[in-house]
Amino acid sequence: MIDIQSLSKNYGNIQALKNANIKIKKGEIVGLLGPNGAGKTTLIKVITGYLQPDNGSVTIDGFDILLQTQLAQSKIGYLPENAPLYPEQTVQEYLLMMADLRQIPPEKQLKYISDAVYATKVDEFLTRPIGQLSKGMRQRVGLAQAILHKPEILILDEPTVGLDPTQIMEIRQLIKRLAKTSTILFSTHILSEVEALCDRVIIIMNGEIRRDARLSELADTNNAILILEEKVPDAINHLQKLNGVKHVSLQEDTGDFSVYLVEGSHGSDLTPQIYRLATEQKWSVRELKRDSRTLESVFNELAISA
Ligand code: ATP
Repeated sequence: MIDIQSLSKNYGNIQALKNANIKIKKGEIVGLLGPNGAGKTTLIKVITGYLQPDNGSVTIDGFDILLQTQLAQSKIGYLPENAPLYPEQTVQEYLLMMADLRQIPPEKQLKYISDAVYATKVDEFLTRPIGQLSKGMRQRVGLAQAILHKPEILILDEPTVGLDPTQIMEIRQLIKRLAKTSTILFSTHILSEVEALCDRVIIIMNGEIRRDARLSELADTNNAILILEEKVPDAINHLQKLNGVKHVSLQEDTGDFSVYLVEGSHGSDLTPQIYRLATEQKWSVRELKRDSRTLESVFNELAISA
């Protein structure tokens, strides 16, 4: 659906985007996560055809965004960081104007508008001027215009920024509903937003794609945690000899129990071998588990190594 290859963009001597390569398949919901100034908006503007890259290509459902801009854009519903809403227009006037701009045939406009209104629940304030709406209501109007032409792909730039917790929940629920019928890419700097909505995360820092993985893959490590009831003097030596073990360290020794981190060198699960070793050696095991990481710890590791 979205194919991004070798994409770069500079603003003078600021490298806002460095050789980004991303493929997004139909039906995916992908979070583009990065701190302020990471390059999220730049990437989104290039994907949606509102900014020219210095290098690389973007195709949307097979259409090149630079060479077949209108066709490619017709596949996308785009919510910019600051949706260009006109304060003096009422919501329905604005949606009618957008329906014209999107070249929705006049006989279909009312149906398309009412579908978008229903999906985003903006019906309560259709006749109110946009300038009188709260930020959350305006964000819903922005989403209504994004889905008006029934695009298969939705690209949302920080859809919940500046909203209160109730409004954030409403917008997240709306995104979840829209995800049932669309492919979604949205940017955010909030980790919990990615965890709440996505199955895949792309982490961008300093214009570079640092990680692109399914959330479940991110959590997996090759490491195991072994907690023994007492400190066994030669435990590290024994563990170190197991197949696929890279490094073993004593993480904690309280006197009551000791915690070992067993780091694996390849993708296998070390816990069955450790369990067998512990049984042979008659160690009293309090706990043995595969180590897992949170999105927060992955993000922090990447931020530190940046
Ligand atoms: P935020 O979360 O704060 O919106 P972002 O991840 O969307 O940030 P971008 O807005 O893409 O980041 O900015 C990436 C880098 O490019 C930043 O260093 C920013 O200062 C710079 N930048 C963005 N737009 C321009 C511009 N028009 N002119 C010059 N530099 C720019």
